[in-house]
Amino acid sequence: MKSFSRRDFLKTSAAVGSAPLLAGSISSVNAAEVQGTAETASGASSGTTRWFKGQLHTHSQWSDGGGMPESVCAVYKENGYDFFCLSDHNGFQSEELKFNGFGFSKAPADKSAFEGETSTWKCVIDEKGWAKMRKAHYQQAIDKFGEGSVRMKVVDGDTYVRLKTFAELEEQFNEPGKFLLIPGWEQTGSSLDGMQVHMNFINVKSWFPYIRKADPAETVYETMIAGEKEYADNEEPYLFILNHPQWPYYDISPEVLVKLDRVRFWELTNNPRSAGPSVEGAWDPEKYWDVVNAYRTANNKPVLLSTGSDDAHSIYPNAVCKDGPFFGWNMVRAEELTTRAIMESMLRGDFYVSTGVTLKDVQFCKETGTLKVSVDPASGEGVKIEFIGTKKTFGRKSEIIETEKPKRKIDSYPENIGVVLKTVDGLEGEYTLQQDDLYVRARVTVTGSEYEKFNKYELLMPCAWTQPYTK
Ligand SMILES: [Zn+2]
Ligand SMILES: [Zn+2]
Repeated sequence: MKSFSRRDFLKTSAAVGSAPLLAGSISSVNAAEVQGTAETASGASSGTTRWFKGQLHTHSQWSDGGGMPESVCAVYKENGYDFFCLSDHNGFQSEELKFNGFGFSKAPADKSAFEGETSTWKCVIDEKGWAKMRKAHYQQAIDKFGEGSVRMKVVDGDTYVRLKTFAELEEQFNEPGKFLLIPGWEQTGSSLDGMQVHMNFINVKSWFPYIRKADPAETVYETMIAGEKEYADNEEPYLFILNHPQWPYYDISPEVLVKLDRVRFWELTNNPRSAGPSVEGAWDPEKYWDVVNAYRTANNKPVLLSTGSDDAHSIYPNAVCKDGPFFGWNMVRAEELTTRAIMESMLRGDFYVSTGVTLKDVQFCKETGTLKVSVDPASGEGVKIEFIGTKKTFGRKSEIIETEKPKRKIDSYPENIGVVLKTVDGLEGEYTLQQDDLYVRARVTVTGSEYEKFNKYELLMPCAWTQPYTK
């Protein structure tokens, strides 16, 4: 694959990664489904579907997160999440006997004490710093789950702590209809040009080593293809998500996802630490999303669907720490709380992203091109619904901002990509696509104390974002 210049990337966008979609053409909820859930449009429950709240990106001691895996699962279960994925870096919570995950650890010289054991045993390194297993971490789990809940061995003066496998965590936390653990992992590394390229695989139980290619576009593409091979025989669908492209410094340009139009999901929100810098005039996450969808829809390609994530590496919910839990999540409409139902709804685009605003309903009628949104009044005061889209006449040229430290060429896109088409002050609103509109999505915000608390981190103020819809 050749790299592409910004002048002609639209022309080349059909060249790579645009073969027919695995999951079919599912850019929006179809008319039949809208009719099938028509009762929910007025707010009355039809009894057939409901919204499930879920988190698909978090870390534990299986990689560089601070919490023991059971502590992290418990925090989400106890705080109203219906489904949850512990997406640790470059590995899976399997039974294979190991002494190190992605985080710092060390293996014993004599492994005989571990004969017949399973899972990863992490050596305690009780020092400050990133990705260590410290006494405070395993003690937190012992305090919560009891003395026998954490297994440890001392070998040559070093203490090794056993991590619970996915199967054990499922056994401990899954409750039919109430809480569901979804398996997954985060592929983490950089491309040869030094850009960070991270991707989540959701609803899979195996992993493969990082595939490092020339640039982010090639790395994402090859990883997606490797995933298709690795998971070809899986019984249930999985998700492939491009994570935090803005981190740490505008590493993955929107053009990558314009070109790789088989990538259906990305992260609109991450934690504040990963929110990235703010170079004046450069794209931010919402602009990124609109740029990708303007070009995709102009070429009749499927829209890019947003997910909301915490990417939490620590679990102290009240600290509002910079990478703690509860920043962004997904609200998925499904008939039941099973991995298949959640995956299928997300692949169909029947979900929205929230950082604090709850929607009662989202309906898009394919025939009329009308998007209707209603908001739960408990979300806060001063509810504002903005319908955002891009016209077919949007500007195709971008300016380039060059920075020295670090060296980057960052795109500054025209203002007419991602414009507010209509604003409604109130709990219900609708917008009908016009002839010259490419797509429409809704963003719902509130005012008040919660907003004040979070508005330091733009994308983390209480908000809800629907997916984009096309006619
Ligand atoms: Zn990451
Ligand atoms: Zn992560």
